Amino acid sequence: MPAAKFVGLDVGGTTMKAAVVDDSGVASRVATLDTNPERGQDAGLNTMCATIELAVKTAGLSMADVVAIGVATPGLMDIHAGLILDPPNLAPWKNVPVRDHIQKAFGKPTAFQNDANAAAFGEKWVGAAKGARSMIMFTLGTGVGGAVVIGDTVIEGEHSHGGELGHLRIDMPDRGRRCGCGALGCLEAYASATAVVERAREELARWRGPTELKPFQTVFDQKQFNAEVIFKLADAGDECARKVVDDTAYYLALGVCSTIAAVDPEVVVIGGGMAKSKAFLAKVDEYVRRFGLPYPTQTDRYAKALGRTDLPAPVKVVFAQLGETAGYIGAAGCARRLVGNK
Ligand SMILES: [Zn+2]
Repeated sequence: MPAAKFVGLDVGGTTMKAAVVDDSGVASRVATLDTNPERGQDAGLNTMCATIELAVKTAGLSMADVVAIGVATPGLMDIHAGLILDPPNLAPWKNVPVRDHIQKAFGKPTAFQNDANAAAFGEKWVGAAKGARSMIMFTLGTGVGGAVVIGDTVIEGEHSHGGELGHLRIDMPDRGRRCGCGALGCLEAYASATAVVERAREELARWRGPTELKPFQTVFDQKQFNAEVIFKLADAGDECARKVVDDTAYYLALGVCSTIAAVDPEVVVIGGGMAKSKAFLAKVDEYVRRFGLPYPTQTDRYAKALGRTDLPAPVKVVFAQLGETAGYIGAAGCARRLVGNK
């Protein structure tokens, strides 16, 4: 019997990506179509089906080869009911019955998941947290995505918004930075790519030392200046950029430490293009050991002091491995779990 195949679909505000993923998590070449949310949700549902069909065709297969389908979308959503409710980056869509539509269109069991949760599920299935019993994930992008996965259970929550780690409060709710969710002091308002650029602009305005960031001063509001540039300049030794990146590591670590206190995971996965800096990861790790609960973050020290060899390793902080493929691989993983594969 040929190995089971699943389709994972990742719906974003700009594009939809889908691929056929086999039982061991290996994905076929990705199929991509433009989302064009402004064309309305019926067109959106048709594009979802078209992207799935294209992925199957690209893989040289037919729908008959596919066991189940997984779909990941951004929030607001009702995971249990299979609906997108009112997602800001898919406006003007409202109350879109994604899961039931796909299920009916193809006659296949269909899993529905939040995109950050799906990405984390993918990393745990075949990526950076493979083999771990539990993990939490932070993805630094336009916002800060978050997820908690324990065993093969994604913490979805009663209202489908469990694991929203970007909205952990790391500063005063009456005078912190303004988050996209409307609140003040959320992690996302400090550590997202957007926030990094904003903080860099503020840092530069009061910076008195030499800095490579100066040439960017006039183009701060333009697209060519982004968080990745700041991270690269920090790695190259620019003091001002390094301060911005160190502060980002500090803020992120505060969110990580809060989640460690709630979950005590085996692995912390950090994702997002800008964060791919070893110096940044090392800083996050350092702050986590410094500010996190002592036992989970310094278990090795306890083991030594107590003369024990049977204690678990301290919590690990690692880079995500799947990059942009995490969403659809994870969605396919959720489909695979839905039909009983663990
Ligand atoms: Zn927020």
